[in-house]
Amino acid sequence: MSEHPYQHIDLHTHSTASDGKLSPTELVTLAHEQGVSMLALTDHDTIKGLEEAHQCAHGLGMTLINGCELSVAWNKIPLHMVALGFEPDNQALKKWTQRNQTVRLERGRQIADLLVKKGLPDLYDKAVEEAGESQLGRPHFAKVMIREGIVKDMNKAFDHYLGNKKIGQIRDVWPQLEEIMPELAATDCELVLAHPKRYPVTVTKLKGVLADFKRYGGTAIEVASGHERPDHVRFLERLTREFEFEASAGSDYHGPFGPWTNVGRYTQVHEQEVRPIWYKW
Ligand code: AMP
Ligand code: MN
Ligand code: MN
Ligand code: MN
Repeated sequence: MSEHPYQHIDLHTHSTASDGKLSPTELVTLAHEQGVSMLALTDHDTIKGLEEAHQCAHGLGMTLINGCELSVAWNKIPLHMVALGFEPDNQALKKWTQRNQTVRLERGRQIADLLVKKGLPDLYDKAVEEAGESQLGRPHFAKVMIREGIVKDMNKAFDHYLGNKKIGQIRDVWPQLEEIMPELAATDCELVLAHPKRYPVTVTKLKGVLADFKRYGGTAIEVASGHERPDHVRFLERLTREFEFEASAGSDYHGPFGPWTNVGRYTQVHEQEVRPIWYKW
């Protein structure tokens, strides 16, 4: 939102390789125009956009960090974990992105079946078509619902059918932290817990997540993600100190729609009070 300052670093963004609106080239170009000098492209469960993003970033003299936002689970609660800084031939990452891509298709079938039980038409084929070359996700179901006149907008689709605790939020499909993290942590990945305040858990449970995230090799947590409340950023900064994490930050930009800030914009981080991950690069 407009009150947030522009930053030079953005370590969480999406392109058309997953559920973002802009192609990797358009995203990198926009980030550059807005003063971002270090950008991570972190599409959901795929690194397909990275090559194109690198070509563009190279031409513009920007630093592009390889990234990927992996869907994972802690005690059946879906979480997002951002892997950063790996080489494109990282085999462990390749294995888990491929597995999650299969899960996404199977989960899509399950979502469609559950929506049929709710009285909706079978939306599977249309959602797959909507996704095209991108990773199939709930946003593609939401777009089909809008087009079919089932809901007015994305928010309504998530509020009624796809969001937390709704029928299309299938919980038990993603790899558990303990199976995925040690394998990735043993490679050249930095593992970052994405947007810790966005999960439907109590503070006690969140601290349980963080303890396990640390135990299995996590490096950092995002202390700012888009227009996070400033007191939440403060709270997360305190947690980085308590659990000895580094701090990451990004816009989680998906495009000029939905609840997202612009690329390169997020709530101010108090850099001197945390250990920022970006100095590695
Ligand atoms: P999935 O990756 O299939 O689990 O879908 C989750 C994605 O849905 C998130 O990464 C967001 O991009 C998107 N999303 C979640 N809530 C909303 C919302 N209210 N409006 C638009 N997009 C949303
Ligand atoms: Mn998304
Ligand atoms: Mn996420
Ligand atoms: Mn994201």
